[in-house]
Amino acid sequence: MTSTTTTALVVLGGTDRLRRADRELLVLAGTLGATHVVVPAAPDDALLDELAAHAVATVHAPEGGPGDRLTTPAVALAAAAARETGARVLLLAGTPEAKDVAARLGVRLEAGVLTDVVALDADLVATKSVLAGGWTTRCRATSPVLIATVRPNSVELPADVPADVPADVAADAPADVTTGAPGAEQTGAEQPGARRPRVRTHALEDTVPAARVVGRAELPASGRPALGEARVVVAGGRGTGGDFGPLEELADALGGAIGASRAAVDAGWIGPEAQVGQTGRTVSPQLYVSCGISGAVQQRAGMQTAGTIVAVNKDEQAPVFEIADLGIVGDLRKVLPQAVGHLRALRGEQAQPGRRRSSGRGPGS
Ligand SMILES: Cc1cc2nc3c(=O)[nH]c(=O)nc-3n(C[C@H](O)[C@H](O)[C@H](O)COP(=O)(O)OP(=O)(O)OC[C@H]3O[C@@H](n4cnc5c(N)ncnc54)[C@H](O)[C@@H]3O)c2cc1C
Repeated sequence: MTSTTTTALVVLGGTDRLRRADRELLVLAGTLGATHVVVPAAPDDALLDELAAHAVATVHAPEGGPGDRLTTPAVALAAAAARETGARVLLLAGTPEAKDVAARLGVRLEAGVLTDVVALDADLVATKSVLAGGWTTRCRATSPVLIATVRPNSVELPADVPADVPADVAADAPADVTTGAPGAEQTGAEQPGARRPRVRTHALEDTVPAARVVGRAELPASGRPALGEARVVVAGGRGTGGDFGPLEELADALGGAIGASRAAVDAGWIGPEAQVGQTGRTVSPQLYVSCGISGAVQQRAGMQTAGTIVAVNKDEQAPVFEIADLGIVGDLRKVLPQAVGHLRALRGEQAQPGRRRSSGRGPGS
């Protein structure tokens, strides 16, 4: 039976501005029906305005700040919001943190959990890419509630976002938003073209022991998109010889992130956070440029679902060409600068030799 009024609950990991992966969850939720959102701390007006553009009916937040405990407060809050909204599907990002929350939520709500979903239809049948991208499976939870983590770059974003909260969303939203803390409800201000969601705060009594956060340190900004969410990934392997400079030039010309094979990571040329593959990150960008990587099955496991795969390898027998949409047999040190030169010429830019923001540790980076 096809339902167009499924209530979906999107569990966001932060209260900063929406990232692309968050928007994908919200767009996916919007295709199912009414959308409610869980955030780990009180949302500010800017976030509420962004959520209004996605026709979010209610934002569920904890009383007070995010606290210093890992995972369990987010689980308690999402469980409370799921019960209150009657959500049939909970959508989370494909991050390790979100998968941790999803697993615990599955136990609390007695709900089936599907990870790394790339599509979800109106009947809550999920599509997954499995076995190193070699098979596509379709599966459905047998429980009344489904919890799904969604792989980044799986959902196309429309050029525009809905301007108004649809009538069925308003009708589906909980009538009573009285909270555990009297007076904690805020009614969103009217915005031109979009109505801010209501904010529902929850007083949570979660006594489950959990790890405490004892310190936080910001990663130095690379100026490039996060690997797991990037639309373009330029990845290098042993064939780089440790010089990621040409790859960085191409990544910057394309607005992409830098990835690596395990051989490059093991050689100490780049940090382990860049590793793509079975024991590294799984990425699903629109474009994956594989440079000096042979294409072992363990590497494929992390990138085979990319929209378009371009491989640069000097060995025409390299296995990576079996999965490449476009293969270039050649030395990456010659091919990549030419590609960057063409891209810049197309944009009318001057060549800027030596312009690099280093992410690698190799001799040339
Ligand atoms: C349990 C397990 C887990 C693993 N997990 C991962 C993982 O997560 N990710 C991963 O990547 N690997 C993983 N591996 C390792 C994997 O099997 C391969 O060994 C690894 O991917 C090889 O890396 P590479 O392609 O960079 O190196 P190589 O296999 O040595 O290939 C280098 C390639 O560069 C080409 N080349 C050389 N010079 C140039 C040049 N100048 N220009 C163009 N091309 C050039 C060569 O022709 C060659 O094809 C795992 C292995 C095991 C056993």
